[in-house]
This record gives sequence, structure tokens and C-alpha cells, in this order.
Amino acid sequence: MRIAVGGFMHESHSFAPRPTRYIDFVQPGGFPKLTVGQPVFAAVKGTSVPIAGAIERAEAIGNIDLVPLAWCFANPAGPVQDEAFERITALMLAELSNALDKGPLDGIYLDLHGAAVADSFPDMEGEILRRVRAIVGDLPVTISLDPHCNLTAEMVDRCDALVPFRTYPHVDMRAAGDQAMTLLVERIKRGTPWARAFRQLDFFIALPMQCTMVAPMAPVLEERARLNTAAGVAEVAFCFGFPYADFKDCGVALAAYAETQAQADAAADALKSFIDTREASFAGAVLPAEEAVAEAIKLSRGATKPIVIADTQDNPGAGGHGDTTGMLAELIRQKAEGALLALINDDESAAACHAAGEGATVQLSLGGKSDGVPIAVSARVLKLTDGKFVGTGPMAKGNYADLGPSALIEAGGVKVIVVSRKMQALDQSLVRHVGIEPSACKILVLKSSVHFRADYQPIAEAVLVGAAPGPAVADPAELPFKNLRPGLRLRPMSNRVS
Ligand SMILES: [Zn+2]
Repeated sequence: MRIAVGGFMHESHSFAPRPTRYIDFVQPGGFPKLTVGQPVFAAVKGTSVPIAGAIERAEAIGNIDLVPLAWCFANPAGPVQDEAFERITALMLAELSNALDKGPLDGIYLDLHGAAVADSFPDMEGEILRRVRAIVGDLPVTISLDPHCNLTAEMVDRCDALVPFRTYPHVDMRAAGDQAMTLLVERIKRGTPWARAFRQLDFFIALPMQCTMVAPMAPVLEERARLNTAAGVAEVAFCFGFPYADFKDCGVALAAYAETQAQADAAADALKSFIDTREASFAGAVLPAEEAVAEAIKLSRGATKPIVIADTQDNPGAGGHGDTTGMLAELIRQKAEGALLALINDDESAAACHAAGEGATVQLSLGGKSDGVPIAVSARVLKLTDGKFVGTGPMAKGNYADLGPSALIEAGGVKVIVVSRKMQALDQSLVRHVGIEPSACKILVLKSSVHFRADYQPIAEAVLVGAAPGPAVADPAELPFKNLRPGLRLRPMSNRVS
């Protein structure tokens, strides 16, 4: 069996402050960089990305000749510039063409995110799959997806199966790649495609409410797993949506693949109805920054473990630049003791710290480069690093991070990790690499919405979700959408229609 594998991952936020450029795939923070052809294997080996799981599954099945195309990832930000989309897609398709010159393929596995928007293609994955199909016709194709994808009918139609991760925090990325490869081999052996069903839900679920470790999402994933065991069902794919992409298919959706159309429809309808009847439970609130910091200070007084605040609206994993200062300003204003903020993405300030040296005091216009709200501080440089470390937690174990020149500073009584390239604060290794033990902090402020919970919830006394100004708004209804489909509601139980 001869199978081509590749990937092109991005989560695009239509209203994020910065576009996503070609260089962002070449130099992503915290994930393997853009790689073409044979080096793909070495680049992803031992990492947590889905294609690593797919490759291992193929090796375990045996007698599969894997042909690597290209693989890349960039951190979530604004839409992918056409130049980046065209160059990377061209690299993948050129490798596919070369592979076909050498002999026939039996199938293709692609590691896609599902929420990518390119300037000219709002359904970027649908367009990638259209181009792949134009070359290979009805050859079996399966993909893995991030459940934050905005699933489209085109994606469902153009794949023989799609497998989103089941968890958020995403601790099963490799498992999704593994399952997509398993289904691909099954599809190749059976010779005919599965019937498929696609359903969209009518309301957005905000990111902080999507955590699968707790209700209301945990029961939905249990129901999904139950439906996946029904007779004839190959895959029930539940996608939570990434409610920041301004195009018609943005939002929660699901797909089912099964032996018969009736089985696919039944599984899809059952899961949709399970979620619809629980709509009210998906409405939730976050604390304004001022209240989150005040509450954390109060809780930290009697705590033996850190109080964690998620600075959710500047989540670099959801399009934030990782440099807003609202939460830092509150920590300083309220004189929070023993607080550490991870992180501020500001290469100019990091460079100034490196120029000054450890132990020096520097005047910084810290952060705020993306939104014009920096904070002027007199900072002591406690430690300088090269920003290189390897992830250790459930999501990022084995992933190599290179955040460029970085520094630990203290400003206004608050410790801050300053980096030159953004990553979501989802792994304790980020804090440890500046010489701080996370569990010894009184208050930890993390630029993350939910992913931090995988590694930090076990060491936290309490977790608060705070909202300081930033693009990854906890309530998508605040965004100026123009292109959503009619009837879509921007909050659960709300009348607000796009
Ligand atoms: Zn995701």
C-alpha cells in the first residue's frame, strides 16, 4: 500500500490584529516548522502533532510505503495571506505530483486544522481538498482536524472520513491522526466510500465554554463516543467551531460517516439533538480583569497552590498577539504579590533586556504593539534566555519551542516572561525555562483560554477566567461579523442573529 501524508495547519481569526504570513509557517513558536518531502518524518517524530500519530499507525499496520508531501503549522492569527497559501499548497501538490510520477497511490492522509481562512478562500481546507481531488479524483482521502474547525459541506464531501480531536485541551492530537490513518486503510480495503451526513448547529459556543474536562461539553463527548459505536458507523466527527472566522460556515458542526445513509443521518441527528436540548448550559460568563485579579489576590491569601487566571481574550492560540497589557496593569495597580504573567510577546522589549543584561534596570514600553496600549515600566532584568525549550505537559510533550531572545523581568512587583515570538502559555516548561517553578507561584496569569488546564489545573488551587481587552473575545457577539449565514445566533439562548 502506498499512502501520501502531509499537513497544513492554521486557525484564522478574521479580526485578529496581524495577518498570517509565509514566514509564520517557517518560524512557528512551539511547533515544528514548515518541512517538505522526506524531512517531514524527522520534523514531526516524537511530537504531539496529529501526523505523528498517523505515521506511527501506518508503521504499526505494516507494509505501507509512506510518501511525505509537506507539513506546516503557524500560530493562530489573522487570515493566511494568499502568498503563504499559494506557496505552501504548491509545495504540497508538487510533491503529490512527483509521487504520482513514481507510481500510483492508494490513499492520502492530510493533517489539517479546519479553521483556516485564506485571503481569497474563506474555506481554506475546502480549497486544499478541491485541488487535491482535482489531481487524484476519487482516491481515498482522510483528514484529521482540530475540533476548533469551522466544518463545511465541501470539506465533508471531499473527504472519505474526517477525524477531529475529542478533547480541549487537545491532549489527543496524535490519537486523531492515528484514527484518520486507521480509517484510511479501512477505506482503501473496502473499496467504496462511506455514506455521510453533515449538520450545522444554530448557535456559537464561546471558547471558555468548550473545555471537554467539564460539563456541558464532557457529556456531549461521551454521547459522541457512544454514537460512534452504533452499527455501521465509522466516525462521528464533532467540531466545536472557532467563532472568530467571518464566513458563512463559521460555528459548531458535525459529520457522520457510516455504511448506509440512514445510519449516518441517524448518528448526526442524534448528536445534534443532544446538543440542541442542552443549549442553555452552554451560556457562561467570564470575570472582567479587575475582578479576576481582585479575586485571585483574595484566594491566594489562604492558598497553598497557585491561583491561575486565564487571560483568555489575548490567547495566542486563538489569534491574540500575546502582548496585551490589561491584566498586567491590573496586577500592578492592585499590588498583587507573588504574581507571574506568562507571557508578553514583544521582541523590542526582549532585545532591550538582552542589551541591558541580567541585573540591570531598563525602561520599557512593554507589550501593546498589536493594539497600541503598551505599559511604561521600569523593569529589573532577572534572567535572560534564548527562548528555547522542550514541552513537558500533556499537550506539548516533546514539542520544541523557539521563542527567540526572551527574558524574565520584574515590573511593579510583578514578574513577567517577555518573549520574541508568541506561543500559548499551555505548558509549564515555558515558566520553568526562565528558572521559576510554576507550582511555587502565588498567582499565575496565563495567555490561554482552555489549553492551559491540561498542564496547570493539576497544580492550581483555583482557576479563574479573566477578560482584559483583546481580540479573542470571550463573547463572539462583540465582533463585527459581516458574512455569517442568516439565522446563526452569536450566543446560546440569544435572539441575536447574524
Ligand atoms: Zn484547537
